[in-house]
Amino acid sequence: MKIHEYQAKQLLRDAGVAVPRNIVAKTPEEAAKAYEELGGKIAVVKAQIHAGGRGKGTIKDNPDQRGVQLVKSADEAKAVAAALLGKELITIQTGPEGKLVNQVLIEEGCDIARELYMGIVLDRAVAKPVLMMSSEGGTEIEEVAAHSPEKILKEHFDPSRGPDAFQVRKLCKKLGLEGATIKSAMKFISGLCKVYVETDCSLLEINPLVITGSGDMIALDCKMNFDSNGLFRHPEIVALRDLSEEEPAEVKAADTGLSYVKLEGNIGCLVNGAGLAMATMDIIKLHGGEPSNFLDVGGGANVDQVTEAFRILLADKNVKAVLVNIFGGIMRCTTIATAVVEAYKSVGFNVPLVVRLEGTEVEQGRKILAESGIPIIIGDGLTDAAKKVVAAVA
Ligand code: ADP
Ligand code: MG
Repeated sequence: MKIHEYQAKQLLRDAGVAVPRNIVAKTPEEAAKAYEELGGKIAVVKAQIHAGGRGKGTIKDNPDQRGVQLVKSADEAKAVAAALLGKELITIQTGPEGKLVNQVLIEEGCDIARELYMGIVLDRAVAKPVLMMSSEGGTEIEEVAAHSPEKILKEHFDPSRGPDAFQVRKLCKKLGLEGATIKSAMKFISGLCKVYVETDCSLLEINPLVITGSGDMIALDCKMNFDSNGLFRHPEIVALRDLSEEEPAEVKAADTGLSYVKLEGNIGCLVNGAGLAMATMDIIKLHGGEPSNFLDVGGGANVDQVTEAFRILLADKNVKAVLVNIFGGIMRCTTIATAVVEAYKSVGFNVPLVVRLEGTEVEQGRKILAESGIPIIIGDGLTDAAKKVVAAVA
């Protein structure tokens, strides 16, 4: 799960990590008021969307307007907020359709001496969180990681203790940070690592991490992603979720107990089990097709779930055929066949449907499909089913 920059910065502030003073605004008038409240000097207006690259991103139909802009008066803050709010911001992370800006953050302008990068993720190979820092802040860190990985400094730390002081000193030395900045870094880094561990983050990224003119370390941007498996113990973080930022079909699927991920292709897939769903996507691609989604109905696909799954698949206008691939282990093929027939009838299917069933009571299941009177194409094995569904969209 992701949250907005302003929410992430509030979590940091609560943990004693330095962030600039800022105020969220939902209207241009609120933006002007926020500018005044911050002291009426230099401020920055920042579009709040669940995507990075806003500084270089542009507003759809208004390519001169960037997603982050410096302002020097209340009127200017108001005008920039008006140019961002209710508009779509396109960045390298949003795709060409962009993301709707529903709120902006008015933040005090920061005296930037240096821009660095800092990130924390879990290093699964070492089974510990890893703190990463780089002198190449503000730019595309992916680019640095790909072309000059030696510029990314790494320190693993024990989650129950946080990084040791000598590790922070080592990082500071390599980055050329001295004097009061080291003290500031100690506080900043220990606070940040604590937030990462205590909130079950999967990613905590500060880019840019700024050293101010007076030598303090401060977070100018903050991206936080949370491990969804840990959310049950953080109701306060679940409350920060912004559903308008998420793919509507994925939200609906999750509510019905389905794991759904939208993709770009035209073959809808309905499968039980995540491993089988992956294999199904692979075999579709092997035979020259493109899956339009990943969809795992889980172990207990009932009529309601299959109906909802069909609705979700067919709501995607790119979908030109559907492949149902079910292995009846604990679940009987008769149950799933009945569910497919009922769901087919109730959603008004309008594209070819290929079904491959295997497992417990498969013969009776196939009989139910054959006798249903609906035009189902039966796949005899996974390869045959994949070939048939690819042929159906050709
Ligand atoms: P994104 O990563 O989405 O582009 P950032 O929050 O990193 O957005 O902002 C982009 C750039 O804008 C930063 O690299 C920084 O140079 C500048 N910036 C952001 N916030 C401030 C601020 N409070 N004061 C001064 N400059 C800022
Ligand atoms: Mg940034």
